[in-house]
Amino acid sequence: MRQKRVAGNWKMNGDQAQNAALLHAIAEQAEKTTAALLVCPPFPYLLQAVAALQTTGVEIGAQDCSAYQEGAYTGEVSARMLADLGVQWVLIGHSERRHYHGEDNALLVEKGRRAVEAGLKPILCVGETLAEREQGLTQQVVAAQIAPFLEHFTLQELASFCIAYEPVWAIGTGLTATPEEAQAVHAAIRAQLAEVDASWAEQVGVLYGGSVKADNAASLFSMPDIDGGLIGGASLDAGQFLAIANAAE
Ligand code: PEP
Repeated sequence: MRQKRVAGNWKMNGDQAQNAALLHAIAEQAEKTTAALLVCPPFPYLLQAVAALQTTGVEIGAQDCSAYQEGAYTGEVSARMLADLGVQWVLIGHSERRHYHGEDNALLVEKGRRAVEAGLKPILCVGETLAEREQGLTQQVVAAQIAPFLEHFTLQELASFCIAYEPVWAIGTGLTATPEEAQAVHAAIRAQLAEVDASWAEQVGVLYGGSVKADNAASLFSMPDIDGGLIGGASLDAGQFLAIANAAE
């Protein structure tokens, strides 16, 4: 039985006061949720989250890391620095990074490499645009985003990964894939992973993301291959985030 996981991607939102309130509410309720919880604050607030959640079992993720180990890369944050702060997870290839920052598969493989070297667990984000879905290319696009990782990482390294399927057209738009649409892609992802190793494919967490809210989470999370969610907007509201977490039985 795979552990359900609910991750909050705060994106570029919040300040110390808002974060304190959100973290306090999450810390208070964390014990009661059966799902594993994880929050991904912006870089400057990672330590605040580490400190606030350290005794709660809620894990911390970063939203990105550098493709480089260290050195003259102004503005970059290395995977090793994140691990040094007590961060456990890192998002790799969120569609906003792919779109606004032109991150391609080759760069993302390097980021994944740095993450694994530093002992961080990557959440590899994949998903198709609306145009790609309308052309019937969804599974092809998602498979092509995953394939370079299967090629460049050993099974032992892949064991620390989660995958997040996030249709680009559903992120921040209020549009959500139906549970059946999402399940079809999750099943295809798991079948692709099974080509590498069937027992790993059965264990790996495949999260769904894209306008998940308290009122649609339970139906999505009840699908056999959906192991929880990566939550953007709704993760900034403690009540919504915790209700979503509680929908993941
Ligand atoms: C996300 O940013 O990963 C996401 C899924 O956002 P939202 O829930 O706001 O669609």
